[in-house]
Amino acid sequence: MDTVSLSAAEALRLLQTPLNQLDSLLQAAGELRDRRSGRRLTYSPKVFLPVTNLCRDRCAYCTFRKSPKDPGAKTMTMEEIRQVSERGRQLGCVEALMCLGDRPEAVYPSYLKALRQINVETTVEYVYQACLHALSLGLLPHTNAGLLTKAEMERLRPLNVSLGLMLENVSPRLRKRGMAHAAAPDKEPALRIQMLEEAGQLHIPFTTGLLAGIGETRQEQVDTLLEIARIHQRYGHLQEVIVQTFRSKPDIVMRDHLEMEDWELVRLVAVARLMLPHMNLQAPPNLTPLAHRMLIRAGINDWGGISPLTQDFINPEAPWPHIEDLRSSCALEGFTLEPRLPIYPEYLDQPRFVDPGLLQPIATAAERIGLVAA
Ligand code: SF4
Repeated sequence: MDTVSLSAAEALRLLQTPLNQLDSLLQAAGELRDRRSGRRLTYSPKVFLPVTNLCRDRCAYCTFRKSPKDPGAKTMTMEEIRQVSERGRQLGCVEALMCLGDRPEAVYPSYLKALRQINVETTVEYVYQACLHALSLGLLPHTNAGLLTKAEMERLRPLNVSLGLMLENVSPRLRKRGMAHAAAPDKEPALRIQMLEEAGQLHIPFTTGLLAGIGETRQEQVDTLLEIARIHQRYGHLQEVIVQTFRSKPDIVMRDHLEMEDWELVRLVAVARLMLPHMNLQAPPNLTPLAHRMLIRAGINDWGGISPLTQDFINPEAPWPHIEDLRSSCALEGFTLEPRLPIYPEYLDQPRFVDPGLLQPIATAAERIGLVAA
């Protein structure tokens, strides 16, 4: 099955569609989505666990990362992981999103010392323990810990129904001086592509995506979506593609950088749908609260994780929508809104993508949200 249905040149042309000609683009994208997944949108009820906000990178758009002496620097204790997981399960969550900075132990000796005091050598090992707690409380871990080695992914696989890493963009240009990733060695595109491929070799259902509006060109957006398509065509493990937009904040290096307008994001989502007709396509609803109906028309079939308990620690200024409000927007467009697990159903049907030890937790979580697992 071909992953891409649109040539690069055609995608680039469609990314220049003016606002007054957007309707026909949205109609084509929406029809493709309807043929793939019908009139049904999904979301994953989750708790967001920012295991540590220490990070060795300094992306120019990030407010999440901290250095150890910064106000707000925080590594969650296992007791905090347990408390949030327990509360989340009581509120109906099934996903434990472990989201954290990139390998802080490589640059912060005080953090490494603190890990060693609890007999842990690496952040990945600490996350492993956090996943054990979340699993024991009935949640299904999905970890995004930045760039991981193949061995680290292998270590986390038995406890994670899926892993994630935003590809963001394939352009090495964004690593140059003055650009968004200049001070972020882990955002080197070749390294991220390698991790995505290695996750494929390990048969790990994987979430990735494009971060738009960080100084990339339209050609680079197309190149990124093509790379995602290429990797998925080879390994078949990219369970969802997020199209996410940069949001400005007063305390970031890129505070004067213009945000994309909502309709420009909607146009990009529609082109992504046309390029990736067979893939799950997602846009976070909290970053575009006024464009939910347009995003539905543009061909998404999923809203990603939504939490009734914890904020989006990456974009703390952007609250999650209430599920009932989102359900109303979906209904106005003729769609149902349904919960899902942090592993998509098509992967549950394929034993190589599911660690046998996770089958029972998956079945239990599915039952809790009214689904029947594979
Ligand atoms: S975006 Fe991620 S990798 Fe970049 S500085 Fe923030 S936490 Fe670190």
